[in-house]
Amino acid sequence: MLGTGGAIPTLSRSLPSTALKREGEILLFDCGEGTQLQMKKAGLSIMKLSAIFISHLHGDHLTGLPGLLMTLVHLSRKESLYIFGPPGINAYIDSTKNCIGFSPEYDITVEETTGGRIYEGSGYRVEALPVDHTIFTLAYVFEEEKRPGRFYVEKAKKLGIPEGPLFNRLQKGKDVELNDGRIVHPEDVLGSPRRGRKIVYAVDTRPCQVVADSSKGADILIHDGMFSDQLREEADQKGHSTVVQAARIARKAGVSRLVLSHISPRYSETDALLNEALVIYPSTILADDLSEFEIPLPE
Ligand SMILES: [Zn+2]
Ligand SMILES: [Zn+2]
Repeated sequence: MLGTGGAIPTLSRSLPSTALKREGEILLFDCGEGTQLQMKKAGLSIMKLSAIFISHLHGDHLTGLPGLLMTLVHLSRKESLYIFGPPGINAYIDSTKNCIGFSPEYDITVEETTGGRIYEGSGYRVEALPVDHTIFTLAYVFEEEKRPGRFYVEKAKKLGIPEGPLFNRLQKGKDVELNDGRIVHPEDVLGSPRRGRKIVYAVDTRPCQVVADSSKGADILIHDGMFSDQLREEADQKGHSTVVQAARIARKAGVSRLVLSHISPRYSETDALLNEALVIYPSTILADDLSEFEIPLPE
């Protein structure tokens, strides 16, 4: 969690940005002012970024982009970089390029989207989801492909399969033929396929059903938690959620962990805020800048 504040940065909370590090690559969700420095503090190299997903065109979510893109030029990046966001993101990147006159050696592929499956990485995909804010805004759902089931060595041995390359083939879901002509199918030695990991990023938004539906079975839901429930009206006017509303969404979806973010700069002390949410959903964390969550592979 690189930046967990909303609207205005404070000494303890930077503007919104979340990095997802997986198998040597980094995906970035939003890029508030100061994101490149926060990445440095977190020990994450911006050179490892492969794609950036911008939720909407409010300044607190994308003013970190120009500086970050400039630094990549200084670091002589060559690999292309993908940027996804709502309509308008292209013009923003273009005018940035024109105004500060930088011409990167690396390709920046900007794709505007109004929702749907937008990106396929190796072993995962990212989907964009329109949510309910004051301007057009997207939530993002990151989901890994299913993994093959557990490999039962004992079963394989009983079937007379020699240890080695045939094990490997079966593990990858392929049939193997033994010396005596028998065919062994993967399902003879593997358990049922295991789900991949799922993370939902929904900042900024009023509570909305589509987030609850898409967060079913998520390992982590990062949700707008800008206000205390005492400010429900203000949250609604400004297109945000209270921590209690966020907790209800998490409960509907049954996520493993709810991470509250986009905290209003008015709260320097957040224990009371967290407690409001914990009453509704005990698996809730209120994120601090630079907090990290490890998501284990599902069994
Ligand atoms: Zn915001
Ligand atoms: Zn906003």
